[in-house]
Amino acid sequence: MADGAQESLAAFREEIADWIDKNAPADVRDRAFDESDICWGGRNFMFKSEGQKLWMERCAERGLTAPRWDVAYGGAGLSRGQEKVWLEELARLRVKKPLESFGLWMLGPALLAFGTEDQKRHYLPQITRGEIRWCQGYSEPGAGSDLANVQTYGADKGDHWLVNGQKIWTSYADKADWIFALVRTDREAPKHRGISFLLVDMTTPGISTKPIKLISGKSPFCETYFTDVVIPKDQIVGEVNRGWDVAKHLLTHEREMIGGGGSGAIGARSIGSVLTDDDVTDPHTIARAQKLEVDSLAFALTMDRYKDLAKQGGVGHASAMLKYYGTELNKDRYELLMAAGGSDALAWEGAYGALAPEWLRTKANSIEGGTSEVMLDILSKRVLELPGE
Ligand SMILES: Cc1cc2nc3c(=O)[nH]c(=O)nc-3n(C[C@H](O)[C@H](O)[C@H](O)COP(=O)(O)OP(=O)(O)OC[C@H]3O[C@@H](n4cnc5c(N)ncnc54)[C@H](O)[C@@H]3O)c2cc1C
Repeated sequence: MADGAQESLAAFREEIADWIDKNAPADVRDRAFDESDICWGGRNFMFKSEGQKLWMERCAERGLTAPRWDVAYGGAGLSRGQEKVWLEELARLRVKKPLESFGLWMLGPALLAFGTEDQKRHYLPQITRGEIRWCQGYSEPGAGSDLANVQTYGADKGDHWLVNGQKIWTSYADKADWIFALVRTDREAPKHRGISFLLVDMTTPGISTKPIKLISGKSPFCETYFTDVVIPKDQIVGEVNRGWDVAKHLLTHEREMIGGGGSGAIGARSIGSVLTDDDVTDPHTIARAQKLEVDSLAFALTMDRYKDLAKQGGVGHASAMLKYYGTELNKDRYELLMAAGGSDALAWEGAYGALAPEWLRTKANSIEGGTSEVMLDILSKRVLELPGE
């Protein structure tokens, strides 16, 4: 990096650190991790405190909920380097990110790449202000890893589609305001060529959700049903029947986000922040911890390299590598934390915080957004170009 650029980043660091310090309310600082500390936004979101709401609003006003998006779309127009500095300063000052959402992580990048100018100006600022919470309607009972097999069908009715079908594993569908969904709009075409990417208001008549209760007692997932749902034609992103291109682009962002340890529910905790020297005494555990810290550092640097290389456009098939390695690493990290914590770590809420639920959650990291087996499949075929069976 040129000296001038480094100097200007140093000046930006000083400015943004000062702004964070002056504007972050006390209750978004130094909090133990817990789901209710995450601000998801949306019409029905119950803020944990006035401070959480104020922090989101102050950041949104400066475009800092989507730092790299264009100012015209509600972002701050920051460079990649400036965004890194913003995240580093948040971490250093122990301040929570102001907003997390599927809109920021997934739909936004897809709209930036495939949306019309009208769609970008309409939907993106709503996402950055945390007004609309999105959920993802990809999976169906017969279409998980084989996602292009979606059967939810949109019949062409001239000025609208009439949609019928079922989605599954729709995270937070019962809390979301809108859904981005893959819908088959041509049953005759080859399966990848007959899918459209639609945006749907969850309050549209004919949509219902049914939470799926998990063994933990929580219900973050839903079955989502579409019965004669009328969807206006302008709520399509990209071309009719070419929604697979949009879907794939979005998936690279989802995989990159999950692989990076996520910024929300699955945010990885460093070993040092959980365990003390008293916890880690036997040489075997120390060696495991050291290896993991080195691997984590190498992975973080690799992520940075890919992000710098890819700029706005995503990282393509390499996202499968980042997703695979990042989620497996995260599982290893939590296995180690649980092993080192011993029986104390099994407490649902205990000396180590909510370590046991976080450990269990890591198991889902290597399934959501595409399983590890499927990521390895993509790597072997598309990146290493190995011959198929
Ligand atoms: C925490 C979590 C959140 C989720 N949130 C959402 C959401 O918000 N919206 C949404 O649409 N979906 C969501 N999903 C669904 C998720 O994307 C699917 O679970 C995932 O794509 C796998 O599909 P499946 O569950 O149907 O498994 P299947 O596709 O049935 O796979 C079953 C097993 O077979 C293996 N397998 C399948 N095909 C191959 C192959 N070609 N080669 C080798 N092995 C293979 C898989 O790796 C897996 O082990 C979520 C899932 C989880 C766990």
